[in-house]
Amino acid sequence: MSESMSKNTRIFKVRKHIALVAHDNKKPELMAWVTAHKDELLRHKLYGTGTTGRMVTDTIGLEVEPLLSGPLGGDQQIGAKIAEGEINMLIFFWDPFEPMPHDPDVKALLRIAAVWNVPVACNRATADFILFSPLMGEDYCSGLPDFDAYNNRSL
Ligand code: PGA
Repeated sequence: MSESMSKNTRIFKVRKHIALVAHDNKKPELMAWVTAHKDELLRHKLYGTGTTGRMVTDTIGLEVEPLLSGPLGGDQQIGAKIAEGEINMLIFFWDPFEPMPHDPDVKALLRIAAVWNVPVACNRATADFILFSPLMGEDYCSGLPDFDAYNNRSL
């Protein structure tokens, strides 16, 4: 369990832990975005699904914590790291025009990000608004629902 985690809050430190994922048709858009914002991104720790992460490193030279390729389990790895409090931001350019073999994983990742109150950008405009929020430059206290009622439910 992350040290930044207490019962009903999580602290997103100034150096945010940002996961980057793009489906194949959206990879050029994500590469354009990371290229435009390299200076801002180097203040943060980056994670990426296999191909996306490799492409980000090749494109802008920033270190990216490598995970498995999305269809091979990378989306689920990111979801697990969100649940554990290690990743606190998700830039996920998913493709609205192509069915994906790992569609359940995509849905699971978006769901777990919603559960843990993690900001998610599914397109470039939202990614811009997130990256240039004044909250990126400070510790942020993310409030969580009280999960006690669920954890202690009678069965
Ligand atoms: P990839 O995975 O970065 O390995 O292509 C992305 C995805 O499809 O989830």
